[in-house]
Amino acid sequence: MIVENDELFAQVLVVGGGPAGAALALELARDGVDVLVLDSQRFPRFKPCGEFMSPQCVPLLERLGAADALRGAGANEVRGMLLASYGRSARGRFVDIGRARAPVEYGWALRREVFDATLLDQARRAGARVLEGWRVREVLRTPAGRVIGVEARDAQGRSRNVRASWTVGADGLHSRVAGALGVQRETPQLRRIALTTRYRGVAHDGFAQAHFFDEGYFALAPVDAGLVSVNLVLWKSAFERAGLPRDEAFEHWLARTPAVREQLAGAERVDPLRGIGPLARSTTRQTFDGAALVGDACGYVDPVTGEGTYFALQGAALLAPALRDALRDERTDASALDPYLSGRAREIAPRARLCGWLVHALARPSIARGVFSLLASRSGLADLAVSLTGDYAPPRELLRPRVWRAAWRGGAS
Ligand SMILES: Cc1cc2nc3c(=O)[nH]c(=O)nc-3n(C[C@H](O)[C@H](O)[C@H](O)COP(=O)(O)OP(=O)(O)OC[C@H]3O[C@@H](n4cnc5c(N)ncnc54)[C@H](O)[C@@H]3O)c2cc1C
Repeated sequence: MIVENDELFAQVLVVGGGPAGAALALELARDGVDVLVLDSQRFPRFKPCGEFMSPQCVPLLERLGAADALRGAGANEVRGMLLASYGRSARGRFVDIGRARAPVEYGWALRREVFDATLLDQARRAGARVLEGWRVREVLRTPAGRVIGVEARDAQGRSRNVRASWTVGADGLHSRVAGALGVQRETPQLRRIALTTRYRGVAHDGFAQAHFFDEGYFALAPVDAGLVSVNLVLWKSAFERAGLPRDEAFEHWLARTPAVREQLAGAERVDPLRGIGPLARSTTRQTFDGAALVGDACGYVDPVTGEGTYFALQGAALLAPALRDALRDERTDASALDPYLSGRAREIAPRARLCGWLVHALARPSIARGVFSLLASRSGLADLAVSLTGDYAPPRELLRPRVWRAAWRGGAS
């Protein structure tokens, strides 16, 4: 990075140092690319999240060379998931599904402030420049529309231009980069809000949990430091109808979910209740001349299946080689990133569609009741459901009758 006339320059500018931005910066820097990350916050910083990473995140993080640092930071192995609703419950494990092999038999749970700061630190060690407290406000474009960088407020509050061959918006759900490029859309049918906190002293068996009810669900994950992360996700309309302040709303739904209430009864809440939402964004494009979007900046991923971190890491893993090739060929046209788009269509889109389908199905109590009765009666079906959210089994495996027969009988594949 060269500083010239108060402007900064980099080959690749990454806006946002969350999992998507940090993973991308790490991989590019390791390959010798001059990469600069700007984040509006200072790390470690809190990020509302269920804090569970699916099993497929583990090999991605191994590939980045970051897994040992995350293990050292306390990443907790989560060997399955308890799914509960309407008085029924089922425990599913991460197992082989059809032709898909589980890379490991567990996902990880780690406080996001620890995970994100550790991953960003790994990017820094690999050679990425990271500037914290820099808020991007505008995208800079040529008269022909090619993105050539951003205008940001630096840590001292001064306006600074940062120019780059490629600018990447990895700035999360409310992406300023996607907004400035005019590609963000509201998805009203997905208007959810989340209330999130953590408890100490919850007795648990090392599984994550999801407890569904008509208006939403509670999600619990045993993270590092002996804490359990607790998220309440609700349809925004239900939250508004209740008309309660956050703490009272949390208590209201807790009182109606005895299985969660009983677990938290003797435990101590160690974090304030934080709210986020509405969670309802999508984008119409993800690549541009001189720019790309990755992670949540591409659009909202419902936390119901705990896949957002995988989408962020996998998106970065697909974007990095496309950017590297574009830099080598001195290209800045959007079509140079077509391999990234086809990778997303193959790896991310089918899982995002399955997740969306699940959100809509579970919103119908009659369907949800039927699903949970089945899951509770057949352990193989619970394994199938949980494994599909583990991100190693492609949803197309569901089209194979053999997979269903094996799950019905209680086998793995
Ligand atoms: C309630 C809830 C529960 C969830 N539970 C899970 C779960 O259990 N498992 C799972 O895998 N996923 C979960 N997710 C999704 C997951 O949190 C996201 O998918 C993931 O954080 C996306 O990573 P990212 O790097 O794209 O964005 P983020 O993690 O949001 O990082 C974006 C970064 O950009 C920075 N930034 C934003 N604007 C600017 C700006 N203008 N200038 C500079 N920097 C900026 C931010 O400070 C931030 O550091 C959950 C989400 C929610 C809301």
